[in-house]
Amino acid sequence: MQDVSIPRVNLLGLTQPKLEAFFESLGEKRFRATQLLKWVHQLGVLDFHAMTNMSKLLREKLSQVAELRLPEVEQQLDSVDGTRKFLIRVEGGSAIETVFIPEGERGTLCVSSQIGCSLDCSFCATGKQGFNRDLTAAEIIGQVWLAAQSFGQLRENGPRRITNVVLMGMGEPLLNFDNVVDAIHLMMHDNCYGISKRRVTLSTSGVVPALDRLGEYTDCCLAISLHAPNDALRDQLVPLNKKYPIAVLLNSAKRYIQGLPDTHRKITIEYTLIDQLNDRPEHAHELAQLLQDVPVKINLIPFNPFGLVNYKRVSNNALKRFQTILIEAGYTATIRTTRGDDIDAACGQLAGQVNDRTRRSERYLGQVETVRVLGGL
Ligand code: SAH
Ligand code: SF4
Repeated sequence: MQDVSIPRVNLLGLTQPKLEAFFESLGEKRFRATQLLKWVHQLGVLDFHAMTNMSKLLREKLSQVAELRLPEVEQQLDSVDGTRKFLIRVEGGSAIETVFIPEGERGTLCVSSQIGCSLDCSFCATGKQGFNRDLTAAEIIGQVWLAAQSFGQLRENGPRRITNVVLMGMGEPLLNFDNVVDAIHLMMHDNCYGISKRRVTLSTSGVVPALDRLGEYTDCCLAISLHAPNDALRDQLVPLNKKYPIAVLLNSAKRYIQGLPDTHRKITIEYTLIDQLNDRPEHAHELAQLLQDVPVKINLIPFNPFGLVNYKRVSNNALKRFQTILIEAGYTATIRTTRGDDIDAACGQLAGQVNDRTRRSERYLGQVETVRVLGGL
């Protein structure tokens, strides 16, 4: 006989309002949503039967109509410097990477929002892989859940290792708007991970219409992947710039940051430095000029080479010189240091190596479609 069972709804990526609607549809009270969020995202409980503040009948019902389905950690690698990298298998056979970087009291988790990316920035290994699909809200928040669980964080008084989240992994978060916004809500929610709005950062290469809407849905921090001080150069590095040029992008970013209720928030400008391409003193001066009316801090990222492009890493001298010019012009300009070298978790650099490993596992498993690369740690 044909199986006519209705697929169970995955509650893992549902925000509080969506869960409330779900419980109401079962004829239950809305406060069940709060109970469920705490069980899942604070205590790490995925078995409905163990949710003891719900009636037996409700638990039974939940296990019939719903599920809490996570992607699967295929590999976890720990670096001597404390960096932890997860290779996570998602439905369809693809894999994504999530990296945790500890820094003193701070623990930053870098999560992916898509499998691949359609925007094809010339220096980015993800872009070179093309686009596979959006991650679901469950797959995005699932990365946080899995990392938190690996640190024993998801229990009563568990250690709070993940203090910050950056959406700087694979994919363009603003092209997966609804799922990313839902996942951000779960990251920040007091009944879930409770991460402050000043510690969740969305990084974008500049999808202006989506950025224009972002402030209606969240108040997280914003990072703009600029990489060039003028349109001619940025057109070469970030093809999306031809559609939304620098002035339009910076205006949209300014509107977002100025629309936030708390003052003194700054936009992070990400600038990946590539040898002889965008690393000259005149570029630094032009950048200083460009950003003079924008509230920013600047993060300089040495380009990490990978097999498919001929770009080279910026020299240490050029990097220092670039930073000094910006600091002398009055900016906060930091250099993103390489972490997790020994486990291939370093920024961008892990690209080729991860791909090599994917290809090896592809031969072995015969099912891997694509693995990304974290460009942005
Ligand atoms: N799509 C979003 C977020 C993911 S990319 C965005 O573009 O902002 C996050 C960061 O990874 C980008 O700022 C980019 O600078 C960085 N990145 C990508 N490839 C890199 C590489 N090979 N070396 C260094 N940084 C890289
Ligand atoms: Fe996509 Fe960001 Fe890579 Fe550009 S830098 S291709 S937007 S992931």
